[in-house]
Amino acid sequence: MIEEIKQLLKQKNAVLVAHYYVSPELQDLAEETGGITSDSLEMARFGKNSSADIIVVAGVKFMGETAKILSPEKKVLVLDKNATCSLDEGCPIDEFSKFCDENSNRTIVVYANTSAEIKAKADWVVTSGSALSVVKHLKQQGEKILWAPDKHLGYYVKTNSNADMILWDGHCVVHEKFKADSLKQLKQKHPSATILVHPESPKAVIELADLVGSTTAIIDAVRNKSGIFIVATDNGIFHQMQKVSNNATLIEAPSRGYAADCESCAHCDWMAMNNTEKLLLTIKNEINEINIDPKIITKAQHSINRLLNFTK
Ligand code: SF4
Repeated sequence: MIEEIKQLLKQKNAVLVAHYYVSPELQDLAEETGGITSDSLEMARFGKNSSADIIVVAGVKFMGETAKILSPEKKVLVLDKNATCSLDEGCPIDEFSKFCDENSNRTIVVYANTSAEIKAKADWVVTSGSALSVVKHLKQQGEKILWAPDKHLGYYVKTNSNADMILWDGHCVVHEKFKADSLKQLKQKHPSATILVHPESPKAVIELADLVGSTTAIIDAVRNKSGIFIVATDNGIFHQMQKVSNNATLIEAPSRGYAADCESCAHCDWMAMNNTEKLLLTIKNEINEINIDPKIITKAQHSINRLLNFTK
């Protein structure tokens, strides 16, 4: 199956871009075939800069949409259109538009984990790695912020920037489960461990972190390092962390507490819907294509390009 996928990617001039949270098999396949394993914005940017005619996205629906927004002339396929995200699902465009209308004096800043329509409505699209610097910049310009959809990331940015922000009440079902009390107990068992936390996690968990950062920052934190790391993000990231570290010991942060049937089940069910069987069918039959209204694409490009120009 893997060989057939490799041949089809070549034959159809297609590139596979994978998120850090999909299976190790898909991450390796993307890298071995000239694609990339990365975060959602970098996946889309890589697809745009490649000479491929088809971008195959192993991730969730909003990642396919972001790739299509940056490459409207290319065919963008996802492995399963039902693979979505609680942040995307929890921020429907009608309710969000109402929220924006009620707060029309505020600059709309949205996280990358949103639908194309929400991105089109926004002034800025940000990633977890860029959110704090963008909001600090906007604060310096005297702007008040309307933030969506992740309340935990929003709270983290608000606390660290002192910006005037109102927050949409969304959350990631994976990160929200991390438990501070169990994490404290785990740290007592491993006193030398460094705690790495993604900012989509609850405040009490973030407060215990040695480093709060994006997926890329969490991977960079273990590069060439040995020692013990407790990691509060989706465990799909362990594959890249193991590759870049120097035999570091990686432990999942507890997400269900010690009375539950497992101590940590930090893996996104929607990311787990991606697999090689679906990849083969998708590329072979060119199914699960992402189509977006061109007017939405133009508006969403505007808010994403603001971030790309800012990070330059
Ligand atoms: S891990 Fe969380 S933020 Fe990422 S796709 Fe799953 S639900 Fe969405």
